[in-house]
Amino acid sequence: MATLMPSHPVKAHVILTAHYDHLGKQGHKMYGGANDNASGVSALLFIAAQFTDTPPPFQLSFVATDAEENGLHGAEFFVSQLPLDDAITILNINLDMLAVSRLKKTLYAFTSNAQRRTLQAQLSDISSELIKVKVTSSSNMMNRLTRGEDIDWRRASDHYAFAKAGFAYIYFGMGYDPHHHTSSDQVSNIDQALYIEAVNYIAQFIRQLDMTSL
Ligand SMILES: [Zn+2]
Repeated sequence: MATLMPSHPVKAHVILTAHYDHLGKQGHKMYGGANDNASGVSALLFIAAQFTDTPPPFQLSFVATDAEENGLHGAEFFVSQLPLDDAITILNINLDMLAVSRLKKTLYAFTSNAQRRTLQAQLSDISSELIKVKVTSSSNMMNRLTRGEDIDWRRASDHYAFAKAGFAYIYFGMGYDPHHHTSSDQVSNIDQALYIEAVNYIAQFIRQLDMTSL
């Protein structure tokens, strides 16, 4: 974990997470996990570099979590260690599976009902020519739009550890991936231009994030 602190006292703490574990080798098969979740970890490192010289007006932490695949254990432990302070607003931004290849170029921002409108307003200030950004708090809608399996997106990744503890969260991802948890989750199945655009979009969102309205 690395943390950037602004020069004046902070009332807000943004915690960027991405899990670095994957399935590894099983039998003779090697599971690379390019999308799940090298895409999130690379984005985490890129965004950390972006903010090193010009920290935002809130505390910003970068956390690469372990043991996500078998039950969000790293994130659960991290959340259990957070100091309880009602004066500080915490927001988790979780990055998991940001790199797919599909015709419909939509980045999903999954959040709670309570935060949806506020985040929608903040995200609509950022434009992208390549991607459309959909803010949703509905797994059903996200499953319908990505034509994927029936996934409970609220519980699907590390943001759920924060959600359960009552913290605000946004999960950024590209939705259902047909290569998920197969040996074909490889760089060759990623649309790199789309991935770079998504990461830049998220970096810009954090740059413009107004934590006073959360
Ligand atoms: Zn994952």
